[in-house]
Amino acid sequence: MTTTRKILLGLGALIVVAYAGLRLVAPPLVEGSMNRQVPHRPYTVPTDAQAVHNTLTVMDWHADTLLWQRDMLDRSDRGQVDLPRLQAGNFALQMFTTVTKTPRGQNYTANDASSDNITLLAVAQGWPMRTWGSLLERALYQGQRLDDYVANSGGALMWVRSRSELQALLAARAGAPDTKPIGALLGTEGAHPLEGNIENIDRLYDAGFRMVGLLHFFDNEIGGSLHGTSKAGLTDFGRAVVRRLNEKEMIIDLSHASEQVAWDVLAITNRPVVMSHTGLKGHCDTPRNFPDDLMKAIAARGGLIGIGFWKAAICDDTPDAIAEALLYGVSLVGADHIALGSDWDGAVQALTAEDVPAITAALLEKGADAQLISKIMGENSVRFLNKWLPKN
Ligand SMILES: [Zn+2]
Repeated sequence: MTTTRKILLGLGALIVVAYAGLRLVAPPLVEGSMNRQVPHRPYTVPTDAQAVHNTLTVMDWHADTLLWQRDMLDRSDRGQVDLPRLQAGNFALQMFTTVTKTPRGQNYTANDASSDNITLLAVAQGWPMRTWGSLLERALYQGQRLDDYVANSGGALMWVRSRSELQALLAARAGAPDTKPIGALLGTEGAHPLEGNIENIDRLYDAGFRMVGLLHFFDNEIGGSLHGTSKAGLTDFGRAVVRRLNEKEMIIDLSHASEQVAWDVLAITNRPVVMSHTGLKGHCDTPRNFPDDLMKAIAARGGLIGIGFWKAAICDDTPDAIAEALLYGVSLVGADHIALGSDWDGAVQALTAEDVPAITAALLEKGADAQLISKIMGENSVRFLNKWLPKN
């Protein structure tokens, strides 16, 4: 062997070892820096509040858990969501959302689409090479991970892709009160994984996706982002996407859409829409939130508003502040249109899925009755899914 070949082989081996090392070391470091937890004292939940919480069917509409390279079936001290912590929080249903592209210097006022943090994240976390250059493959890969979790959970996680799967989940929970399974739903954060091709809606549907967020932090082929540079409405392609999502009975999520996109969607959709994770401007005036009249219009069309658990949405992030935001929502749009939209593993820092009984306790403390609490913690969401998911 020539010296040059030896050197090349040595370098090759070094790269392989370095990459293997990166795959081992990077995920906890990456998630530790990008999905932060702030220390807090344990929230105390009075026994009677816990008893009320245990009777609820709880659903949350937004978690970016699939972005992070850890086994969601095992308890982790990273982020906020895994199966054990969902079980401890008495969750019945969790919507998992796939993040596929985020801009460098991400902010709530103006981002363009020229940069992307997720490419490096995909490489550093050892995602398959097909995901490195394709937003569609990134969404499909995260969907595959959810499918694997369901398959490996021994029945503890169940897919909810249809009304019949929802009914099967609720029956299984009623039949096994000590080991209640949890329903998993799948959605995208932004419709850029369509890569401008309407037929990719079918690819997402076939992979189990039932909710499509139209925008994320930058303007895309569908229209303007709330945090983009144009603040434009729907494009022609965006209008075609809305019609196709209606036909496929997929739920449209307006979180992160520009106000004009939201008004444009409301003008043409024949199904109600969801704001999967948001705050309310009249309660917390930040650039992350839609004005109250737009929220009222969403609710008036039968929509649901998932209230987030982080500071930029609700101005504080204690269980007490979350309860306050939920009750403001009820006063604004009525008790039937408010739901939970945490933004677990994306923006939440001060509580985890197992701390959710503290929100029930805070709602009780503020004088909410059990019927109202039951609606906003999940009953509204179950009713919505029972009407708007595909039948089978
Ligand atoms: Zn988001």
